[in-house]
Amino acid sequence: MSATILDGSAIASVMKEEIRRETAAFTARTGIRPGLAFLLVGDNPAALSYVASKERACAHCGFSSRTVRLPATSSLSDVLEYLDAWNIDPDVHGILVQLPLPAHISEERVINAITPRKDVDGFHPVNLGKLVLGQECFRPCTPAGIQELLIRSGVEISGRHVVVVGRSNIVGKPMAIMLMQKAAGANAVVTVAHTAAQDLGSVTRLADILIVAIGKPAAITADMVREGAVVIDVGINRVPDPDAPKGYRIQGDVDFEPVRLKASAMTPVPGGVGPMTIVMLMRNTLQAAYRATGSNDSPASRKG
Ligand code: NDP
Repeated sequence: MSATILDGSAIASVMKEEIRRETAAFTARTGIRPGLAFLLVGDNPAALSYVASKERACAHCGFSSRTVRLPATSSLSDVLEYLDAWNIDPDVHGILVQLPLPAHISEERVINAITPRKDVDGFHPVNLGKLVLGQECFRPCTPAGIQELLIRSGVEISGRHVVVVGRSNIVGKPMAIMLMQKAAGANAVVTVAHTAAQDLGSVTRLADILIVAIGKPAAITADMVREGAVVIDVGINRVPDPDAPKGYRIQGDVDFEPVRLKASAMTPVPGGVGPMTIVMLMRNTLQAAYRATGSNDSPASRKG
């Protein structure tokens, strides 16, 4: 068996076109351009490259964007000053603070300072609380992108056993919550594993759908995957590679080639979950702009 590749780049391109068309119609009708503001603290190269990709997606979709880069020595109050201004700026519909922040700046304080109406990353406790309750909210972009990828790829989720490896607040936990909801595109039986699992393979082998978000290159090996499973690799790891032009290559958390021989479908890295994350950010931002006008929800939106 060789797994079908779940092409996140291709699906994200289709979705970006949908959003671009919808944005053009929205802007023509209201005179409003959806606007996204990015705040970046420090010069982490991965963070810089993520923000650059998101800015390009904004331009493609017809959004305005602005980016503020602060030095790594900035204080919490420097950051909050921008957030306070953007919270009340009518041209800013979505606010994104690129994580991770330098250790001396509390991520919790920063996330809590973004108004939930502009929290297009879906990290604010109000949005996460609504997610748990199954209410309409901004959903965290990576797990929302994975759900969308599964749905658009025709993978049945209802009644399947999903194993999520990793329990971060931005990927693992919201992923598990989304897929366990009694809702269309969800309704799975969900298990969450993490570093305390005594025999991780015995858990991952139970998965019909295995979602891995641990940040450990090629940690999920073929013996940990059930024959015919659908495997979603969230990991983005920079692995030193003297033959690569930049001296490193990007590798996922799953040992791709051997697992491909066992899985029925799987995402590549890069080109799987990453592009879906960005397109869900675009969708959330358009949704925020719709809500700011008091008009009905964007047709592209999906209830969480
Ligand atoms: P975190 O470091 O915040 O969390 C990692 C989680 O994985 C923790 O819950 C940890 O367990 C668990 N874990 C780590 N090692 C193991 C192991 N050997 N066995 C079992 N569980 C393990 O990571 P994130 O969730 O933020 O990100 C995970 C990966 O996904 C990273 O590579 C990141 O770059 C990538 N990512 C990709 C995105 C995309 O758009 N494609 C978006 C966001 C992240 P414990 O809680 O016990 O410590």
